Amino acid sequence: MIKIPEENHYSELRREMVEAQLIPRGINDKAVLDAFYNVPREIFLCGNQEAAYEDCPLPTMCGQTISQPYIVAYMTELLGLSAASERCKVLEIGAGSGYQAAILAYMGCDVITLEKIPELAEFAIANLSKLPCGNKVKVIVGDGCDGCPEEAPFDGIIVTAAAPKIPKALKEQLREGGRIVIPCGDLFIQQMIQAEKKPGGKFEIHKGIGCRFVPLRGKDGFQE
Ligand code: SAH
Repeated sequence: MIKIPEENHYSELRREMVEAQLIPRGINDKAVLDAFYNVPREIFLCGNQEAAYEDCPLPTMCGQTISQPYIVAYMTELLGLSAASERCKVLEIGAGSGYQAAILAYMGCDVITLEKIPELAEFAIANLSKLPCGNKVKVIVGDGCDGCPEEAPFDGIIVTAAAPKIPKALKEQLREGGRIVIPCGDLFIQQMIQAEKKPGGKFEIHKGIGCRFVPLRGKDGFQE
């Protein structure tokens, strides 16, 4: 049974979001849906709370965006974490508002999230501090292209910015059996990639839907 929080204006909008935007498009992992029914999206926006549950990406701070709910759900499902053991450590590149990290933390993951822009890292920390699951997230200011070797290996890695290819450091820091989910392509259009690390270190690649993300910066990303 999915636990639905106390009714209020936003919980009603949240339920509509799950039922109109996620389930009809094929999101069916119970743990993912449960997180979307429960994590308030309005606290991750600055100023445009009424738009929180619309079927589109929204601007946050410093010219960055919070992805469309369906895209966050789709990427979370592609990580394939519900089948994993209960203690699950995930690396996110691009903390932004902290919403994606909150979804993963609500599902029980310990999340390390790297953010290049210090103001956004502060924003994510402030937003996550409003939620009980926020204490499962560590926000670090840094270049995600290097990953986080001190905390490796990870059971899953999610990159929420567009990259030309999968950064090498991230491949190395993934545990065997884990998956990297990353939008790869050029600056204007990307394809969602799910790369699973097989025993021996080879990657099995699955290509998903077309999408458009803000660019990953840094040595494995796009030039400013
Ligand atoms: N996951 C976020 C949305 C991320 S938008 C959310 O749920 O709101 C993409 C983010 O990636 C931006 O905040 C941008 O500053 C960050 N970013 C871009 N290049 C980066 C890099 N090399 N390392 C870390 N963060 C990066």
